[in-house]
Amino acid sequence: MTASKPGIDSVDTMIVGATIVTMNSDRHVIRDGSIAMLGDSIVAVGKRADLDAVYEAKTIVDGRHFVVTPGFTDAHVHITGDPLTRGVRRGEPGMDFSKTLMEWVIPLFHAHEPHDEQVSAQVAALRMLHGGVTSFIEAGTVQHLDDVVEGLQKTGIRSRVGAWVEGRSFDSSVSETAAIDSAIETLEKEVNRFGKSPDARIVAWPLLIGHAVNPDEVWLAAKRLADDNDVGISAHMSPYASDPAWFLGNTGKRPIEHLADLGVLGENVSLTHVVYVSQSEVDILAETGTNVIFCPYAALVGGFGAASHGLFPEMARAGINIMLGSDGVAIDIMNSARLMSGFFKDARNDETLFPATEVLEMITLNGAKGMGLPQRIGAIEVGRKADIVCHDTDRLQWFPEFDVVEQLLETANGAGVHSVWVDGERVIEDYRSTKIDEDVLRAQARESASSIVSRTGMSVHHPWPVI
Ligand SMILES: [Zn+2]
Repeated sequence: MTASKPGIDSVDTMIVGATIVTMNSDRHVIRDGSIAMLGDSIVAVGKRADLDAVYEAKTIVDGRHFVVTPGFTDAHVHITGDPLTRGVRRGEPGMDFSKTLMEWVIPLFHAHEPHDEQVSAQVAALRMLHGGVTSFIEAGTVQHLDDVVEGLQKTGIRSRVGAWVEGRSFDSSVSETAAIDSAIETLEKEVNRFGKSPDARIVAWPLLIGHAVNPDEVWLAAKRLADDNDVGISAHMSPYASDPAWFLGNTGKRPIEHLADLGVLGENVSLTHVVYVSQSEVDILAETGTNVIFCPYAALVGGFGAASHGLFPEMARAGINIMLGSDGVAIDIMNSARLMSGFFKDARNDETLFPATEVLEMITLNGAKGMGLPQRIGAIEVGRKADIVCHDTDRLQWFPEFDVVEQLLETANGAGVHSVWVDGERVIEDYRSTKIDEDVLRAQARESASSIVSRTGMSVHHPWPVI
């Protein structure tokens, strides 16, 4: 160990000479800037000349060909079920959503054995890291949580995860009380089993499927656990008109009104999709500080009608914290951001809606807030965690470089992510994971994928003759 020179501080890593999109409160973009990381934190950020005079680093990364951003948050992603079965068409043309769900989507999830879910989670995590996503909120459809957490830990990603719980019994042989008790027990166990410190990279949250499948008792238990343990809840709600129809028919109120009356909304709650809402539901979301997650690609391909029915511009005006999700890993979060930027410009005939600056906030600062880490991630600032992404400006999509904020949204995508740090640890370097042997994982994923599909007995459809 060498002693520092007088007046010089020793740090672990410095990225030097980069263009840094800080997302700090002044939204500084620093040309020829440097970042110093020590342990899991950012200890300095500024002009290279200023930092060079003060810091020496064990590892120096030449940032002259990088645009550096905070790590992004994918606030809604199913890390099992989809990653190993994408390309298997769900349902038949014209089949309605619930039939597709029951006959195609859920059987594919259930055909995953613990090892398959672990591999799937790792494939999903690496896909996200390669696209600049350093943190994510799982969508609540993991069946074998221990195996998934073990797999995720090996990738280095930051996440909030939970097991699949329902509580409403769709099987007549299982009593409603037994289903509710089992759901609550699962939530309590998972929250108590994994680290609850916000500093832990992986934390279990009481995640709910939402829609109409979680009875009030399960919502109340989840909210109590979230409040008592300083964790969050995430749940699907109202992608289609079927959720409001169910709630109106069974409770006499719209979904958000019902949840508000139950007392289960708040800043530690995130609802995903939220397309079929009334203005009074938007007001409730704003008053309670409830977060909203929109998944533009899922809305488009799911035929939600989000452009014609969604009130996202109204939500943004009301100050609701809007985050973005991929809802799967077939699209990266930068592409989701680009879609979000365009979605309501077209729908409302208003090109001023959701500019690049606002959409970038959704995948950084808003994501941090929804993860329960508002001062810890989401910006490159002293004291925040060193979750950092280097975008390679030698890639053609980045060339030439002018307004890098606009270019992040207009031209760049996850394919240009060269290096990624989480908690100051470089987890992607020169387009490769530093923690997982990707060739081994690819082989495992291929093997798991074909076993899963053959276990379901489904045949893979092709639109054209395969000869
Ligand atoms: Zn989902």
